[in-house]
Amino acid sequence: MAEGKLPLSRADYEAARARIGEVIRCTPCDHSASLSEGAGVPVWLKLEHHQHTGAFKLRGAANAVAQLTDAAGVTTASTGNHGRALAYAAKRMGLRAVICMSRLVLENKLAAIRALGAEARVIGASQDEAHEEATRLVEQEGLAMVPPFDDLRVIAGQGTLGLEMIEDVPEVDTVLIPLSGGGLLAGVAGAMKALRPSLRVIGISMERGAAMAASLEAGRPVPVEELPTLADSLGGGVGLYNRYTLAMVRELVDDVVLLSEAEIAEGIRHCYWQERQIVEGAAAVGVAAILAGKVGLRGPTCVLLSGGNIDMRLHARIIAGDNPDLMQEA
Ligand SMILES: *Cc1c(COP(=O)(O)O)cnc(C)c1O
Repeated sequence: MAEGKLPLSRADYEAARARIGEVIRCTPCDHSASLSEGAGVPVWLKLEHHQHTGAFKLRGAANAVAQLTDAAGVTTASTGNHGRALAYAAKRMGLRAVICMSRLVLENKLAAIRALGAEARVIGASQDEAHEEATRLVEQEGLAMVPPFDDLRVIAGQGTLGLEMIEDVPEVDTVLIPLSGGGLLAGVAGAMKALRPSLRVIGISMERGAAMAASLEAGRPVPVEELPTLADSLGGGVGLYNRYTLAMVRELVDDVVLLSEAEIAEGIRHCYWQERQIVEGAAAVGVAAILAGKVGLRGPTCVLLSGGNIDMRLHARIIAGDNPDLMQEA
């Protein structure tokens, strides 16, 4: 990607929206009384954890699958939510799906993928090793690769969420977006800034294994050790051969915030007790960053709740006040 030039335009995001309209659900943006009061500015929550399959990733996967012409099926490497989304999109199109994932995947996510009729292949100790297996399936079995984030079809699909947010809250000043591989932030910020260039975009990751933050700092993709975290959907690297998201995130993000495990747990608790929303750790980081005082808010703010696929036993412990040390339990 050339310096300073974004590869997707407003028209690309609009085209994606038209393509996936039948498959996805337009999710609501709800005003949060408790966060608005605490922050002193109006705060809205984009309830994308109510998306089909429990996360926004269906948008990108559906936009990619809708553009395939003669593939024998689809494959990907995924920590869970993308795999589940691709399985759902493939099933709707009558395509075979083989989802490759590392051993760090949580049991509930694995079961959800299998329940959608996809083949789940658990292989390797990291996302990168799972990715090698998916690449082999492309070369040897003619499947089409639908990557979890570093793909323009996927990024454009995630961006449709930004179009919805800006239509619901046209006066938005700041948007808080969970950040891992960066497909979500690149698409949402790209679509929203195309309509509102003054928008401020904050990306949020966990301290434990924030690959995009490290890569932005280094100016190139940096491998990080994958560690157990409450924000498991934010785990994994940005890909050593990253083509789009690193450059797009660098162009579009105004600030990156990192959170401790205790802060993420507090975000999950707030979403449950105050907002009555069940969200996974990765989706709670925006709320958590506000509660931790790590983002200064200066105007109307949208917080993206990106997914709800959390193990309910873990969720029950967290809302009861526990701060599980996944590091020790692993
Ligand atoms: C994948 C995912 C993210 C991060 O998206 P990227 O495109 O990898 O940055 C955030 N939240 C949830 C729930 C996810 O599944």
